[in-house]
Amino acid sequence: MSDCLFCKIVAGDIPSTKVHETETTFAFRDINPQSKVHVLVVPKAHHEDVVELAAADPQLLADVIATGAAVAKAEGMDVSGFRFVFNTGEHAGRTVFHAHLHVLGGEQLGLFGRPTG
Ligand code: AMP
Ligand code: ZN
Repeated sequence: MSDCLFCKIVAGDIPSTKVHETETTFAFRDINPQSKVHVLVVPKAHHEDVVELAAADPQLLADVIATGAAVAKAEGMDVSGFRFVFNTGEHAGRTVFHAHLHVLGGEQLGLFGRPTG
């Protein structure tokens, strides 16, 4: 999709800090990290969100998860632990409409799921 931020990052039209790449997925550091390690994993093909991705191409969703696990290991978090997050819709504060997995860790993470403010 020509006007999608993450499609542009995958294509290299917008710069990113790449940490891992496979034939079907691309992983890069979040520009506004919410933990010491915060990496985003996206399918190279455009899918709106994780629910649509799961229905359209379950293998590609499995690839995204496998890349997230590889990132967690490469960042030294496979023993200490990490968190996978998919935000979907307004209540989750979703901002980018190309499916993406947040990989969070590198330190003790706080509680989550409570309203802000
Ligand atoms: P979400 O709220 O789940 O849609 O997450 C979108 C994420 O993309 C946020 O954590 C942003 O900080 C991140 N983000 C937005 N623009 C960029 C960018 N150009 N490079 C890296 N991460 C970005
Ligand atoms: Zn896209």
